[in-house]
Amino acid sequence: MPSVNPKFLRDPQWNREPEVQDIIEAELQGLGFMTERSFPLPDRPNLIGRWAGSDARSLAVCGHVDVVPQGDLAGWTVDPFGAEVRGDKLYGRGSCDMKAGLAAALVACRAISRLGLTLDGRLEFHAVVDEEAGGFGAMAAAALRPAPAGVLICEPSAGAIRPWAGGLEWVRVTLRGLSGHSARRFASIYPSEAAASVPVKSVNAIELGARLLASLRELETQWGIAKSFPGMPAGMNTISPGVMVSGCGMGPDGLPTILSNPAMVPDLCVIDFDMKFLPNETSADIRREFEEWVARFAAADPWLRDHPPEIRWELADLHFPPVNTPLEHGLVQAVKASVEARGRAPEIVGSLGVTDAAHYAAEGIPGVVYGPTGAAQHGPDEYVLISSVIETAQVVAQSIVRFCGVRAAAS
Ligand SMILES: [Zn+2]
Repeated sequence: MPSVNPKFLRDPQWNREPEVQDIIEAELQGLGFMTERSFPLPDRPNLIGRWAGSDARSLAVCGHVDVVPQGDLAGWTVDPFGAEVRGDKLYGRGSCDMKAGLAAALVACRAISRLGLTLDGRLEFHAVVDEEAGGFGAMAAAALRPAPAGVLICEPSAGAIRPWAGGLEWVRVTLRGLSGHSARRFASIYPSEAAASVPVKSVNAIELGARLLASLRELETQWGIAKSFPGMPAGMNTISPGVMVSGCGMGPDGLPTILSNPAMVPDLCVIDFDMKFLPNETSADIRREFEEWVARFAAADPWLRDHPPEIRWELADLHFPPVNTPLEHGLVQAVKASVEARGRAPEIVGSLGVTDAAHYAAEGIPGVVYGPTGAAQHGPDEYVLISSVIETAQVVAQSIVRFCGVRAAAS
């Protein structure tokens, strides 16, 4: 069932998140879950299922139903929505990321139901929209009360247990220069009698931006050297310049209105950064360190001292707090014991990418990511290993039973 996130591509043929929710809802209702839908975004339903139980040992299993578009079909050797099976591989957009995880979680619930087990803690099933483009589905699901005591997210992790993830912030820095004729540039860079006779000296915003980039590279290096977190690669806390636009004149969107003429010295440079930080840092700390660095950079420059760069956070409302679930948390321990019960050595590592666990962490709900093995997520010929989906279902079922506890078994 194609369920391409409509923020990437709007086409009713592919945007069928509600029909995926229909399939999951039928299965959940068959297992005795109470279900409800909510709409974090118009026409895009979250689906929440609940088995009643105590708050203290309550758990949500969560997965996103949206997928990224299939992209260039020339790269695919199978139908992107054909679910073709070749050997142990099941192919298709979203097979790995992450319908396999959702399917495994459903099968886990089915197994618990068929065994006649009644869980002590409340079990919630969160099938959410929009993970691939902001996570507004998970934000809404995480805000529901009463909140579960933990969330298990079945994103593909190749069997690794991921209780940690770095945080992510997007930030825009806007630098203002002074435009002028390129033929008078000499007056801005060489002291001379001729230069003295040019009354207005341009300030090139591209060069201001280039200096800022070089300066922030130093901050990035300092962060990489001075800070670390176990389970995360050294230096994963980066400041990546992602978009840089320079030209003349600022339009209402904050971007240059003239981009086409190098005879004008540009007076505007806008740089968007993607910043990753460690699980034990807060976005408030990171924002303050970044702002202080830029302020010191500006204070050391005669022009920028009087024309300080502007800093704007939360571009596109994007904001992912870190995930830092303690090793001793019951959910980490439950998943670890369940992996060990499969005869595997548990691998506990941090997650480099952000997931919906961030939005639960923002609501104070500790999360763990654990899921199947696959490849080519977001690319052509995405696939998941069927054997890993089965193993995920087994581990998730056992983790649920361990974490929620069992009240009584039917005779
Ligand atoms: Zn995913």
